[in-house]
Amino acid sequence: MIVLNLTCNGGHCFEGWFASTAAFDEQIGQGRVNCPRCNSLQIERLPSGPHVVRGTPAITEVQPSINFEQMIALLERVAEQSEDVGDRFADEARRMHFEEAPARRIKGVATLTDTIELIEDGVAIIPLPLPDKKH
Ligand SMILES: [Zn+2]
Repeated sequence: MIVLNLTCNGGHCFEGWFASTAAFDEQIGQGRVNCPRCNSLQIERLPSGPHVVRGTPAITEVQPSINFEQMIALLERVAEQSEDVGDRFADEARRMHFEEAPARRIKGVATLTDTIELIEDGVAIIPLPLPDKKH
């Protein structure tokens, strides 16, 4: 058996198993090879080999990229849904970490030193470069 990389006129790529390339040619000639996805009979053999790229890329789902403005908007939405604890942020985050306060989503301001200490203590915080709109 040989495995051939095939493509249809719709750009679908798939593998076909044949007894030999002669058997493939014969089956193609008889219209017995069809695309498993769209049943097209317009099948072409792709050159095999890991470095040959041809035709439509197999990847159709591309992760949408997010730009800086969208990221800021997203962070602002998250921030809007958080309880504002202001400059008590470091204390409150630490209390939540040690389960002395109920776990919830909070936001606030912290000094750089506080922020670094929180991170070093393993408190789950995310420093955000958001402007404080009140000041
Ligand atoms: Zn197809």
